[in-house]
Amino acid sequence: MIELHGIHKSYVTKYETLPVLKGLGMTIKQGEMVSIMGASGSGKSTLLNILGLLDRFDDGDYLVDGKSVKGLNDDERAMLRNRKFGFVFQSANLIPQMDLLDNVILPLTYRNMPEREIREKGMVMLERFGLANWRRHYPNELSGGQKQRVAIARAIITEPEIILADEPTGQLDSKSTASVMDILSEINQGMGATLILVTHELAVARRAPRIIHIKDGIICSEES
Ligand code: ADP
Ligand code: MG
Repeated sequence: MIELHGIHKSYVTKYETLPVLKGLGMTIKQGEMVSIMGASGSGKSTLLNILGLLDRFDDGDYLVDGKSVKGLNDDERAMLRNRKFGFVFQSANLIPQMDLLDNVILPLTYRNMPEREIREKGMVMLERFGLANWRRHYPNELSGGQKQRVAIARAIITEPEIILADEPTGQLDSKSTASVMDILSEINQGMGATLILVTHELAVARRAPRIIHIKDGIICSEES
């Protein structure tokens, strides 16, 4: 379970201080699927980055499984991030010099696991996403939808409890959007992973039983 309490976050630049989150609170239970909507610039990515421990907040508290992240040092934050979270972004961010199998297994290569076991896991992932025959291909040979499927495979190969997806279908056509959403829903329902999905497409957001709307740095409404 993750809980935010009164989260404040501003960006400080040379010229100004821009308050983005202004006392935002939410609770998301393990296994939930939640969509987050809000205008461009409303702080959705900022919120996901805080949830995924990619960025820090200024005030308030963030509890993961009942424990505040405030006291953690950089190493402890990185450990919690790698163990707990999987990330999917708008662009797949695959590594162009690596073939698909190497891209998918990348997060596991930082773990103390035998090479053969890692590659087997990678193949299972690619098979599951209908990309096994593509394992020796490079990202630039794939369609946008295929790339995003590889990115999702890479995000879940560590079996994270929580998937954070920031506009994962933002660059996809409607057919690829449907297939990526089917995969994400299946990861939520089949694997029991929590799925937190930022999107500005209402049809995509509605795949989740709960929709949170952000405005002016706080949650302005919730539907479920
Ligand atoms: P969203 O994802 O909802 O479009 P963001 O969280 O990316 O919004 O950004 C919220 C606001 O904070 C925007 O006005 C954006 O320009 C600003 N912002 C985001 N990241 C930074 C940063 N690293 N430095 C300064 N301003 C930022
Ligand atoms: Mg964003």
